[in-house]
Amino acid sequence: MRGKSTVTVHTDREIHSSRAVAPPIYQTAFSADDAVTFATGAVEPRGADFYTRFGNPNHAQVAAVVAELEGPEAAMVTASGMAAVTPAVLALVSAGDHVIGQKSTYGGTASVLLNLLPRLGVSTTLVDQTDPEEFAKALTARTRLILVETPSSPLMQITDLRAVADLARAHGVLTLADNTFATPLNQRPADFGMDVVWHSATKYLNGHSDVSAGVLAGPAEILDRIWDTSLLTGATLGPIDAWLLLRGMRTLALRVPRHNDNGLALAEALSSHPAVARVHYPSLAAAAQHRLAVDQMQGFGGVLSVEFTGGYEMADAFLSRLRYSRRSASLGGVESLAVHPASMWAGMLNDDQITDAVPAGLVRLAAGTADTADLVDDALAAADAVSI
Ligand code: PLP
Repeated sequence: MRGKSTVTVHTDREIHSSRAVAPPIYQTAFSADDAVTFATGAVEPRGADFYTRFGNPNHAQVAAVVAELEGPEAAMVTASGMAAVTPAVLALVSAGDHVIGQKSTYGGTASVLLNLLPRLGVSTTLVDQTDPEEFAKALTARTRLILVETPSSPLMQITDLRAVADLARAHGVLTLADNTFATPLNQRPADFGMDVVWHSATKYLNGHSDVSAGVLAGPAEILDRIWDTSLLTGATLGPIDAWLLLRGMRTLALRVPRHNDNGLALAEALSSHPAVARVHYPSLAAAAQHRLAVDQMQGFGGVLSVEFTGGYEMADAFLSRLRYSRRSASLGGVESLAVHPASMWAGMLNDDQITDAVPAGLVRLAAGTADTADLVDDALAAADAVSI
């Protein structure tokens, strides 16, 4: 297998190749020479030049890189991470079916599980992902899909990908893995048997906080079903944004090691601070989760969550004191960003759902690529200031 930087720089070269070194932006509708070509284009899943909602050369270039990075046969792009997972779930389940998800998971995914699916007659069970037995206990004869996210937002809990994939396969259940936090540099869920891998490409894949995008990678037959549904939702990635995403991915393999270094340094520095009750970061996790993280990840990423001893007020004061990390819902870019998840999720989940998933004194830090010592000094100074 060739190296990840080679993949991100060269894989798309044969897709709509031209003499341009940076790929052109296909901000255009497409024409066909004859009726047969037109009719073929109209039904070709994930095609590249029939009509941009059906596919576009800039989409195809991103998809080629993502498929090779994540490992499965094929990939597709969407307008956001939510525009990836929602059509995927809608394509793969029907009324009367049952879906298993995690208690610790991104708020939008939790809302699909807790609000959208039950309204459509699909029952759901959310389990403690740190115990693979919980997935087994939740299985019913109607279970069709298991959604995992590891590390999870915002508690950074680890799911045993191989255990869940083996369980699902033995029961004819499909699996969908959110690999946004890990990136394919740190973890490839398909290597452990996950069927479909998806990302909020808004985050590390793009890496510059200037695009909203989503991607899915998996077997072509499953992606074709998802693509059929995504055509109807119409959440199409604009060609310029696809181009920006591809440009961002060119440096993914250079950026992620720095994010890993910065995440680890911040986690270690803050974990012994008196204002901090607990730091959630895979390499600091208790024994079983730590072993699992080391087994299935090559690095632990730039995101960590910090629980303050003084609850919401202290968490908020800490956020206000940070010099380099700005208060933002996003993560995964070169800039450091920080958020109070309980406030961010208030629009997506009700109070009970939030209390279960997110402690009020929790701050999620997403370390960018600035120098490690500067980010650590800044975080420690902010923690010192709020503990006075
Ligand atoms: N998955 C994770 C882990 C996320 O953090 C997010 C967004 O923050 C999403 C999915 C949703 O992605 P998007 O905002 O691109 O729709």
